[in-house]
Amino acid sequence: MRFSRAYIPTTKESPKDAQLPSHIYLSRAGFVAQVASGLYNFLPLGKRVLRKIETIINEEMAACGALEVDLSFVTPAELWQESGRIEKFGKELLRFRDRKDNLFVLGPTHEEMMVSIVRNRITSYKQLPLNVYQVKTKFRDEARPRFGLMRAREFVMKDGYSFHATTEDLDREFDAMEAAYKRILERLGLTFRIVEADSGAIGGTGSKELMVLASSGEDTLAVCDTCEYGANVEAARRSPRVVIPEAPEATFAKFKTPNIKSIEDLSNFFHVDPYYTLKAVVLRAVYEEGSEPVCFFIRGCDELQEVKARNSVGAIDLVDISEAELAEIGLVPGFIGALDQDKIRFVMDNDTRNATSMICGANEADYHFVGVDLSVMGDVPFADLVAVAIGDGCPHCEGKLLHTKGIEVGHIFKLGTVYSAPLKAEFLDENGRSQPFIMGTYGMGVSRLVAAVIEQHHDEKGCIWTHTTAPYMVNVMVSNIKEEAHLAYAEELYATLGTHKIEAILDDRKERFGFKMSDAELIGFPFTVIVGKELNNGHVQILVRATSEMITVDADKVMEKLTELIG
Ligand code: ATP
Ligand code: MG
Repeated sequence: MRFSRAYIPTTKESPKDAQLPSHIYLSRAGFVAQVASGLYNFLPLGKRVLRKIETIINEEMAACGALEVDLSFVTPAELWQESGRIEKFGKELLRFRDRKDNLFVLGPTHEEMMVSIVRNRITSYKQLPLNVYQVKTKFRDEARPRFGLMRAREFVMKDGYSFHATTEDLDREFDAMEAAYKRILERLGLTFRIVEADSGAIGGTGSKELMVLASSGEDTLAVCDTCEYGANVEAARRSPRVVIPEAPEATFAKFKTPNIKSIEDLSNFFHVDPYYTLKAVVLRAVYEEGSEPVCFFIRGCDELQEVKARNSVGAIDLVDISEAELAEIGLVPGFIGALDQDKIRFVMDNDTRNATSMICGANEADYHFVGVDLSVMGDVPFADLVAVAIGDGCPHCEGKLLHTKGIEVGHIFKLGTVYSAPLKAEFLDENGRSQPFIMGTYGMGVSRLVAAVIEQHHDEKGCIWTHTTAPYMVNVMVSNIKEEAHLAYAEELYATLGTHKIEAILDDRKERFGFKMSDAELIGFPFTVIVGKELNNGHVQILVRATSEMITVDADKVMEKLTELIG
């Protein structure tokens, strides 16, 4: 490609609302252009990167025997009614009616459609397993589209679905997909972690997320400093505490604690470690139909993990509750306790089971109980409710947990029969019995990956593409195109690169050197060959974008050097 004929509208202006480097640089370097909130046009360079990522995905899927399909983006709403997801998805699902008044949705994911493809077509275990996927536009009317391609409303996803006769076979395919996803991210040149994830409302047994490590990531991960364990904090576990603070000595009593409401005040007042206090967090749990206040009890030294809390009561969402609402229920903020609690539904954290020497609210203004033995609670709901903290013990080894940030670029899931059962997609097993398909699902954010590469690879000048994602590997830049000999040399090099199948762009624009250089850096080609005055002495220079190194080479050795650098 000749730069003079390309369409790469670079600019110094950042989009108004842009905070992330990927959002800023992909816009400034002319890869994408925003159309409306969460909607983006891919310009020629952006399309090339997208295509490269897709190609790597397609190659790895083919190597695993997965079959590519292409399903209609417009999906009949009936399928969503059958699965029961039409309400659950809420406003993210864009619905509309056609001229005959039939209701449709724009596919935000394609479980239902994929099930409908095999339903009544695959009828016997002999036709299984099957793994089908597509790379396709998705639409989710996200509440807060932001960060450019990272959280868009229209985006490209690779979504794959596998169908099995047994759970063992699903396990095998799940492992194969995990390995394939790992290879894809390795080939893209990304540093990542595969972590245990929350299975959320969908349920299922195994769920893993592929996280590209970047400080701008929206997800917090707990990773072990010693072993391979890693989990999204929404699902992270920790080993039981080994160092237990010394227990306060107190027999059971009701104590006047005037205006002592916070855990900090309480532990100071009694001179006890917050470990021995019981924290009450009241939130309103929102369900498909209606809502109710719920109290979550955890140790005072811990923090509530909201996703865990939400799952423990099967809610869609948890929202704040006002003091007025609490008063209406008859709860006194700061003094809410678990003993004889009959005013509100509650869940206790696993770590409070049979806890002794505890201090908790007496459900009465200005009073707490001390010396509480929680084993008297008996048969009440317990769940893992707490967020693992930095320094907590790894659940697998002696190591300690650290926190790091990640961008979720993929999510793989063992679905079981969650969709096939309600959609009545069944096959006959070896014994001639009808069974719903056992399914797995494998998603990857293709357009989000374009941004993730830049989040991990950029500097203050712009993008730094990895070799496999670069729109062009080599930029041949002529400092001054009026120098005929320089232009001729560059033309020849450009042609040679072409014959060696190295993707190159020739910057033959009638522009100043500085202007071209800043474009080259902003766009982020891995290598820029600078053809300038030095050519009169038989030299050219190669700028290595990732390291900013400037290498001087003999003009007739440049192909050898580039081949070596590209590797
Ligand atoms: P998130 O937690 O980031 O909202 P999700 O869990 O809703 O994502 P999945 O349903 O698991 O996403 O979709 C599979 C993949 O699609 C995600 O791992 C992510 O890479 C990508 N993806 C999801 N939502 C978006 C979006 N709004 N914009 C771009 N990519 C997205
Ligand atoms: Mg997900």
